[in-house]
Amino acid sequence: MSSTNRSATTTVNGGISYWYADDGLPDTREPLPGDATADVVIVGGGYTGLWTAYYLKKAAPFLRITVLEQKFCGYGASGRNGGWLYNGVAGRDRYAKLHGHDAAVRLQQAMNDTVTEVIDVAKAEDIDADIHHGGVLEVAYTPAQLARLKAFHATEVSYGEKERTLHGARETAERIRVAGAVGSTWTPHGARLHPVKLVKGLARAAEALGVTIHESTPVTEIKPKHAITPYGTVRAPYVLRCTEGFTASLKGSRRTWLPMNSSMIATEPLTPAQWESIGWEGRETLGDMAHAYMYAQRTADDRIALGGRGVPYRFGSRTDNDGRTQPHTVEALYDILTRFFPQLTGLGIAHAWSGVLGVPRDWCASVSLDRSTGLGWAGGYVGSGVATANLAARTLRDLVQQDSGQSGPTDLTALPWANHKVRKWEPEPFRWLGVHGMYATYHAADRRELTGRTTESSRLAKAADKIAGRG
Ligand SMILES: Cc1cc2nc3c(=O)[nH]c(=O)nc-3n(C[C@H](O)[C@H](O)[C@H](O)COP(=O)(O)OP(=O)(O)OC[C@H]3O[C@@H](n4cnc5c(N)ncnc54)[C@H](O)[C@@H]3O)c2cc1C
Repeated sequence: MSSTNRSATTTVNGGISYWYADDGLPDTREPLPGDATADVVIVGGGYTGLWTAYYLKKAAPFLRITVLEQKFCGYGASGRNGGWLYNGVAGRDRYAKLHGHDAAVRLQQAMNDTVTEVIDVAKAEDIDADIHHGGVLEVAYTPAQLARLKAFHATEVSYGEKERTLHGARETAERIRVAGAVGSTWTPHGARLHPVKLVKGLARAAEALGVTIHESTPVTEIKPKHAITPYGTVRAPYVLRCTEGFTASLKGSRRTWLPMNSSMIATEPLTPAQWESIGWEGRETLGDMAHAYMYAQRTADDRIALGGRGVPYRFGSRTDNDGRTQPHTVEALYDILTRFFPQLTGLGIAHAWSGVLGVPRDWCASVSLDRSTGLGWAGGYVGSGVATANLAARTLRDLVQQDSGQSGPTDLTALPWANHKVRKWEPEPFRWLGVHGMYATYHAADRRELTGRTTESSRLAKAADKIAGRG
């Protein structure tokens, strides 16, 4: 952890995330004591692994379920994210192409319902995660962004989001004063939350049901019916990989999902006068329409937590060190903050951190169970995993129950992302060149659009999407 000075305040850099600085790092649970057996072993104690353990144990209390976590539950993106619990799912449009529009509408509907599912379970399990159900507001502040915003709005409505609304500059300003904002779109299917409070609460709820969690236990290799760790091997008919952005570190999985970095800052608390100048009383999660988009929330303790891409990818699929973030990324995020809210220039940054998320080669989130081996996995959420992990976990539950003869197919196992197959990423240096090229193009396109001289979305950005397999 180190510090840099800004406006007489100190910025903590790393230390996992602001959310841990706020809520405290957990006491670590005991590592695996030696060889063991289970009915289901889950690798990774983030939202995906913990929700899966929770739902499986609820559905079948007799199952012996073990979660193996390399550090502590919530060490990964689940303890570092922007706290947008929202209905976006990576790959929906591609699933529409592959399986038809109606299948994609069902996936979208399931995602809409997932937002309320998380809120309801948090309530039922007494998890106070600072949840505020204020929806998602996305703003445009250039002509090209406005064109994209309108197209985005129309697309979302075509997937069944009848409640979504479109706002002009004046209506947008009534909600939030973002400098230069010319329009926005709002959906009720989103809520702000405190990521760490949710992940800690989930681990507690799973344990209370009887799930066994071992921390400080890295799995070095997953094989059918085996999760191998330096402390022993857990044998189980089902081994579920829930390691998202860290997947590349598992033997044989280097090119499965690309670990993409996302970085965040949390400001010092704003004064009531500063809040008055901004508005944002609805505490919607806030995003924009830039190609290299930003995401933000007004925290329960009245700060702004804001994130964006920073250095998108490290050569050789390396991941960060406890969230440390490059100074120029911190500056870039601060520039976004003060571009949105110029009156905040000089406001201190309390904390800066990074995390890693998983990107499949076709940018589609998926959930799978290989019935011949009992190996399952879920992830590749491409940065939209807070709600998606819950839907993926319920789907994994259903796939395991179906495979073990405890139930038949369900609405969830019929969703188009279930058992979706995707090829691996290219070897280095092509991975690095591809991702850096794509983000350099996004940034160039955003800079060009900021001049206001173009109303059209950059063709370059579209070409970059195609090359990266995203379009
Ligand atoms: C900075 C940032 C901001 C984000 N903001 C948002 C947002 O606002 N909204 C949104 O929807 N999504 C957001 N995301 C994405 C979202 O946080 C993730 O998609 C989601 O948390 C993934 O959950 P997970 O459980 O699949 O993975 P993780 O939370 O990464 O959990 C994986 C766990 O597996 C453990 N693990 C890894 N390898 C091993 C191993 N070999 N053995 C044992 N354990 C292992 C890790 O330590 C980790 O705890 C953000 C991501 C980042 C990084």
